[in-house]
Amino acid sequence: MNREIYGKLVFELSRTGRRGYRLPASHISENDLTEGKGEKAAAIPQRLLRGAAPELPECDELTVVRHYNNMSTNNFGVDTGFYPLGSCTMKYNPKINEEMAAHHGFAGAHPATPDYASQGRLRLYRELELALSEIGGMAEFTLNPFAGAHGELTGLMVIRAYHDSRGDTGRRKVIVPDSAHGTNPASAAVAGLEVVEVKSLPDGTVDVEALRPLLDDTVAGMMMTNPNTLGIFERNIPEIAKMVHEAGGLMYYDGANLNPMLGAARPGDMGFDVMHINLHKTFSTPHGGGGPGAGPVGVRAGLEQFLPSPRVVEREDGSLALQFSDDALGSVSGTLGNFAVQARALAYILSLGSEGLMEAGPLATLNANYVKEALKDDYLLPIEGVCKHEFVFDGLRDKSTGVTTLNVAKRLLDHGYHAPTIYFPLLFHESLMIEPTETESKETLDDFIAVMHDIAREARETPETVINAPHNTPVTHPDDTAAALNPVVTFE
Ligand SMILES: *Cc1c(COP(=O)(O)O)cnc(C)c1O
Repeated sequence: MNREIYGKLVFELSRTGRRGYRLPASHISENDLTEGKGEKAAAIPQRLLRGAAPELPECDELTVVRHYNNMSTNNFGVDTGFYPLGSCTMKYNPKINEEMAAHHGFAGAHPATPDYASQGRLRLYRELELALSEIGGMAEFTLNPFAGAHGELTGLMVIRAYHDSRGDTGRRKVIVPDSAHGTNPASAAVAGLEVVEVKSLPDGTVDVEALRPLLDDTVAGMMMTNPNTLGIFERNIPEIAKMVHEAGGLMYYDGANLNPMLGAARPGDMGFDVMHINLHKTFSTPHGGGGPGAGPVGVRAGLEQFLPSPRVVEREDGSLALQFSDDALGSVSGTLGNFAVQARALAYILSLGSEGLMEAGPLATLNANYVKEALKDDYLLPIEGVCKHEFVFDGLRDKSTGVTTLNVAKRLLDHGYHAPTIYFPLLFHESLMIEPTETESKETLDDFIAVMHDIAREARETPETVINAPHNTPVTHPDDTAAALNPVVTFE
């Protein structure tokens, strides 16, 4: 790697007057830009014009190319290595999906293009709604929400609107299991609802007996993730759904990680009334660092009218149009959601076809169980049995070494693997949550297993090696608390 440019900011590489690009001469003179002056007076008001030239880096083209290519290799991504980050479904995202989303007819469309001129975009939107309704076993879907948490909020607003429409306005409690993703209670609170926690049994599933006394006529609904965030399938769903429905509440399904369900089961068939899906997890959008996302929301028959506006509807002549309705709970996004994420999802669904989709869930489940069984001699498995797409270890089995889950995660970086999710879920002290996904080969899984065994052996024999890891990454031990409390994001 070129030491001249490695590890430097593009501003440090800047040399006054250096050029990589020449713009054609402008036909608008300085004078023209000033309001009211000149023949071609551009409509930029004087007060908005810059006083001084912007401080942009000045570099030759090759320096810029090398700078960004070098930087990109400092980043970890699923295109460069295995990424077993539990609860995130970091599967491989086929490049054909990127190509479809980047199609100039899609990428160049303005969100406010009138319906008659965006029939292709609306068709893609509607096709995806229909595909997700089929996959989730729901009557209708909206693609408007921008993320999983945004989908939860929208879904809970649907539940609120349903109760309110019946004059049943005393229902404000939402029951959330203690194993739930943190967004569940947060979304319920943002929706103006009150969160009530229900405990899990030692096997990680919801305690039905603890649920019973919580159910009364103040319950708006219950949020569940199935398989839950421990990767365990909630076997008692039919009974739980029946109990909640009898109490007058609705069942909400957190389908952020729908991966293991593809081809195996549908939330609608389990008795759920409202659900969301994270397209950026299950349906192939590269994500991380907070975006980009999409959290479509599905509802069972009878709740469609509460979905947010606008909806895409088919007219009698077969054309599509946006429809705004007064019953709906209003608008949750200004642009019909994240279009590029929707385009990738439909490309993914169509390229796999129903046959391919049916294989994704079982393969994700097989891979997770393969890794779990191979490692449970060295890592503590608090919940035995078959998992779905992911599972949780409670750190190393040998607790005498002083090596923590954080140390193991950092040591994995030395081997070129992304760390698993750590210290979540909160049910265990040393949680290490692994989700291999269906897209990894057996060879990759075998190598990961070998590395995890090596780390466990190091922990016993030379614990300092693990405790002081990573040893060969560009940055080794950032103070993450200081970075979170006092992030420095500007160049001094
Ligand atoms: C990721 C995730 C969410 C939140 O999704 P965002 O798109 O990050 O808002 C909610 N629930 C579960 C189970 C998740 O894994």
